[in-house]
Amino acid sequence: MRYISTRGSAPELGFCDVLLAGLANDGGLYVPETWPQFAAADIALLAGKSYEDHAFEVIRPFVGGEIPDADLESMIAQAYATFGHRAVAPLVQLGSDHWLLELFHGPTLAFKDIAMQLLARFIDYELARRGERATIVGATSGDTGAAAVGAFRGRTASDLFILHPKGRVSDVQRRQMTTALDDNVHNIAIEGTFDDCQSIVKALFNDGEFRQRFRMSGVNSINWARVMAQMVYYFSAAVSLGAPLRPVSFCVPTGNFGDIFAGYGAKRMGLPVDRLIVATNVNDILARFIETGRYEMGDVVATMSPSMDIQVSSNFERVLFDAHDRDGAKIHALMADLTETGRFEAASNAALSHVRGDFDADRTDEEATLREIATTLRETGQLVDPHTAVGLAVARSHKGRVGSPIVTLSTAHPAKFPDAVERATGRIPELPPRLADIGEREERYEVLPASVDAVRDFIAAASPMKD
Ligand SMILES: *Cc1c(COP(=O)(O)O)cnc(C)c1O
Repeated sequence: MRYISTRGSAPELGFCDVLLAGLANDGGLYVPETWPQFAAADIALLAGKSYEDHAFEVIRPFVGGEIPDADLESMIAQAYATFGHRAVAPLVQLGSDHWLLELFHGPTLAFKDIAMQLLARFIDYELARRGERATIVGATSGDTGAAAVGAFRGRTASDLFILHPKGRVSDVQRRQMTTALDDNVHNIAIEGTFDDCQSIVKALFNDGEFRQRFRMSGVNSINWARVMAQMVYYFSAAVSLGAPLRPVSFCVPTGNFGDIFAGYGAKRMGLPVDRLIVATNVNDILARFIETGRYEMGDVVATMSPSMDIQVSSNFERVLFDAHDRDGAKIHALMADLTETGRFEAASNAALSHVRGDFDADRTDEEATLREIATTLRETGQLVDPHTAVGLAVARSHKGRVGSPIVTLSTAHPAKFPDAVERATGRIPELPPRLADIGEREERYEVLPASVDAVRDFIAAASPMKD
């Protein structure tokens, strides 16, 4: 299996090189040269098997023999042994034709654990095999950093440095990061905003000498291995609901488009997926594009669903690449437009039709999100988090329009966003027992000013790669 860049000029790579590279060196995103195919009979064979078995079958063709089967199996088993539910991603029925796919049973209670638990093991395994060490550096507004800490803590070939804006992440999110006392985990609270954190990380990646010296790497949602790991639950959910015989639609609370792109990939592999419904909060760049063909950056508005507060959806580039006949030069030009002018237009009606052929999209505002949390509790007894509620509200408005059952993805546990849930319902959702004592655990983090030099000096002093 070879991977090519969406911008057409980076070298083709195999799985393990793509895993460690993250972004392609022409600024593009790696995608498989061809999608592995699952015939109806292959899909039928998945029925009744465990999530881990599904993961092995779906992931194996993408790895292309670069990791021996036995090692792949054992990393999958270890990744999902950290989950609090034996089914890993259980389905809950909400109505006659509506289901909730619970993706929040991992160690940090958001769907990012599903991919990150596997990604960290793959990266550490490959580094160890090459006799190398890497420094993983990232900025977080909450969920990604927590998932990364939960996944990389205790790994032996990687050191993790996560920057979060001091006082601007929730207590639970901060504690999920700062109570990991492992030697290879370094939390940095920046006296500034999330944007400050992000620009510091960017500056460090742009410092070629520093980047090489510490072999810096990232784990954000454009990493191919994360998208790949997320395809698995589209298969497991569809098979539980009757695939390959019955098509299903998925409604996905969307920010950076990594999660729903995995659904698109599963469809390209032969899974009978009907509609892919993009659900956004008021940061609705994707919904506007699908309506109008114009992709226009706006200002980010802070909402109750912060993990979907984005200006651009990086992974959407992977769909644009297919929509423009896999012409890397065209994508390069569109992205240059976006950088220069803050906007671009689909290059043709055919390109827009390609996108509309798979995706619907809709937005939900803050009031409707609160109403949805309350309505869902009243109708089903389920407490849901605000990200999930955005998905449910959009699914509700689409129900009459799709001729297949809808699976809405539940991307976070309600206890991760207790303030919104309490506002909507008067109830304070409880943390699962294994996290109930998180408020009493010892925390460790470094407070630094919003300065590239301060962070660079801190990493240089704390890294075991300093000599
Ligand atoms: C990251 C995140 C999302 C958005 O997922 P994308 O892959 O970026 O579209 C939605 N909900 C929660 C809770 C998240 O943490």
